[in-house]
Amino acid sequence: MQLFFYQYELQLKHQFTLSSSSRKSTPAVMTEITHEGVTGYGEASMPPYLNENYETAIKFLSKINLSQFKDPFLTEDILEYFDSIDKGNFAVKASVDIALHDLIGKLTALPLYKMWGLNKFNAPNTSFTIGIDTPDIIKQKIDEASSFKILKIKLGSENDKKIIETIREITDVPICVDVNQGWNNKDFALDMINWLSDKNILFVEQPLPKELMKESAWLKEKSPLPIIADEAVQTSSDILKIRDLYHGINIKLMKCGGLRTAREMIYLAKELGLKVMIGCMTETSCAVSAAAQLSPLCHWADLDGNLLIKNDLFDGMKIIDGKITLNDLPGIGIEKKFIS
Ligand code: MG
Repeated sequence: MQLFFYQYELQLKHQFTLSSSSRKSTPAVMTEITHEGVTGYGEASMPPYLNENYETAIKFLSKINLSQFKDPFLTEDILEYFDSIDKGNFAVKASVDIALHDLIGKLTALPLYKMWGLNKFNAPNTSFTIGIDTPDIIKQKIDEASSFKILKIKLGSENDKKIIETIREITDVPICVDVNQGWNNKDFALDMINWLSDKNILFVEQPLPKELMKESAWLKEKSPLPIIADEAVQTSSDILKIRDLYHGINIKLMKCGGLRTAREMIYLAKELGLKVMIGCMTETSCAVSAAAQLSPLCHWADLDGNLLIKNDLFDGMKIIDGKITLNDLPGIGIEKKFIS
């Protein structure tokens, strides 16, 4: 087996604003693992708050020696080896995990969801994310998102109520709210959630900073809406720490290191009675389609990252009438676009 990789800058269609930051592009590294003429594709998307960048990704990938493995189906051995190279580096580990899964899917001519025994028709609707913006721009973005059955709205600015009121003037589609740790005390958070509770809101993601553990447990108990952990949960071991603080978790391949860990997290969280959402960063159709293979196991999905960029390199999973629609291509279900 051989590994190839290259840097790729994901260009965003709209400036993307969260409670803590704003940006127009996201650095990514694309990976490819080839074996006997077959290529599996992977991707690491590295938004700034994950502490990974081109330099750390290239450094990690340069240490990988895949020629020692003759059999790509020894995925446990190979993924253990990636893990042993260095701590952290979750996004770049996800990129090689995705490429390896894509490769074994292609070698067996099966989509991953089939290898895992999942029913693709159980894939959920995905939400479509609207960043923090002025009312006029928000109206325009909602127009563009009219085919989606769920909107994800970023809150955590001074205009939170205005943003929700603006949206509710236009549409009564269900909304997930993502605060990205932007409300910094529990009483304010509970007031806001009470205010939101009769506005057809599905759940509130990461209302408080992840460090406020006692306050999060208090909020879980009092909140009329489910509270979902995103920044507070990265990988499997975090689930045990936060199980009493949140009603559910948002799993992302770039946070947890890939499909193997994400699958493990889904089963563990469900066993503990937590709701599971599968999410993404701004990504091409490569990483989004990989995550979509797991979506039939999840209660909610937020897999719109490929729709937020201008320079997707792949065709893959499609959203049809708001629903994640898996194709029958082998592996993660993508084809590289011909770009001249
Ligand atoms: Mg989030």
